Amino acid sequence: MISGKRIQNRRFSAITAILLLSFFIILSAAGCSKRTDSNSGTGTGTETNLPTADTGTEETDSDTPGSIPGNGSASESPAASSGIMKVHFIDVGQGDAILAESGGQYLLIDAGENTQGDAVCRYLRSLGVSRLDYIICTHPHSDHIGGMDTVISSFDAGIIIMPDVIETTRTFEAVLDAISAKGLTITKAAVGTSYALGSGSFRIIAPNGSGYDDINDYSVGIRLTNGSNSFLLAGDAEALSEREMLESGTSLSADVLKLGHHGSSYSSSDDFLDAVDPSYAVISVGTGNQYGHPSSEILASVSERDIQIFRTDRQGTIIFTSDGNSLTVSTVLGASSTNSSDPSTSSGPVSDSGSAPADASASDAVMAGSEPIDGNVIVHTTKTGKKYHSAGCIYLKSDIAATLDEALTRGLEPCSECSPPVKQITN
Ligand SMILES: [Zn+2]
Ligand SMILES: [Zn+2]
Repeated sequence: MISGKRIQNRRFSAITAILLLSFFIILSAAGCSKRTDSNSGTGTGTETNLPTADTGTEETDSDTPGSIPGNGSASESPAASSGIMKVHFIDVGQGDAILAESGGQYLLIDAGENTQGDAVCRYLRSLGVSRLDYIICTHPHSDHIGGMDTVISSFDAGIIIMPDVIETTRTFEAVLDAISAKGLTITKAAVGTSYALGSGSFRIIAPNGSGYDDINDYSVGIRLTNGSNSFLLAGDAEALSEREMLESGTSLSADVLKLGHHGSSYSSSDDFLDAVDPSYAVISVGTGNQYGHPSSEILASVSERDIQIFRTDRQGTIIFTSDGNSLTVSTVLGASSTNSSDPSTSSGPVSDSGSAPADASASDAVMAGSEPIDGNVIVHTTKTGKKYHSAGCIYLKSDIAATLDEALTRGLEPCSECSPPVKQITN
């Protein structure tokens, strides 16, 4: 009898526990969607919803509290509750500086040249950053780590990841000095290691070897994911390191690829582009840089694959927002840059390329802040090409002016390199 009562009590408390548990799960789900809501929109620039290539899930907007599919079952896995992740390709002129944030955690990858350190700090402060949970110095070239001593001196930092290579430059030594002055340590990049970042995570995928002739091949590469969205970022890694990433068998597919080495022809080999198979490519590059980045050969090979290109020298700071399913992009000219702003790019919306499936872009076509484009706006076409362009595009061999309506009537599609005006789909 006593034992019977105990069993009943136990059963009762088990039921209470389950009820309590489901209550907390519902509470935390509500908390998640609240955080999602308050976290939207930073820039004052152009904002566009992007169709993501691989997901079959159609719904983009998660404004409503009911967006997390809940059927009340406490045994549901938490797979559907991805938070927001933002990835900022900060315009630092010729160089790289990338900030990823999610759930109040921050990862900074590179900080541009020495002269850009203060601008990067200002940008971070404008976002309310006080601590960088992770810092990655991809490789010891000055256009990547030049500003990092200033950043490390100015912010609290957690894990600092670097490749196992030493440069005897004053710039590199200044970074090491800043690290030891703060009593911090260096974590050597180890391929296969994953780190949590808010609702997502990143995994080290390069460098896979050592003894490289070229410092660029030491670049730390990561694949950053949030739900079904992913970013592949690998500093200045060139074809040799790209081949090693391919041979490692790790997953390389990504929605967004930062083209290696500022779009130079030593990176972005065909096999690598095919394996990553991105919808969007970002080139972090300075206006009129002395190296001729990006290479026209690479621009052509990216364009052939219908990958839409974003460039910091033309669009300024480029910010992707992931909700775990879909991506939105916004661009802010002159946020922190030494890049001179090109007036022709600040007017037109940065918009989706013709490669997107029509109904995906229709459901995503809430282009916040963009005016409907007038069909009489002048675009530029060529004699035989299947695309139309903005003035000055490198693919404009023969330059024939036409209105946007005429170009569309001829079945031409927007060039993915120069992002000419597009019409919003209305249905
Ligand atoms: Zn570089
Ligand atoms: Zn480099």
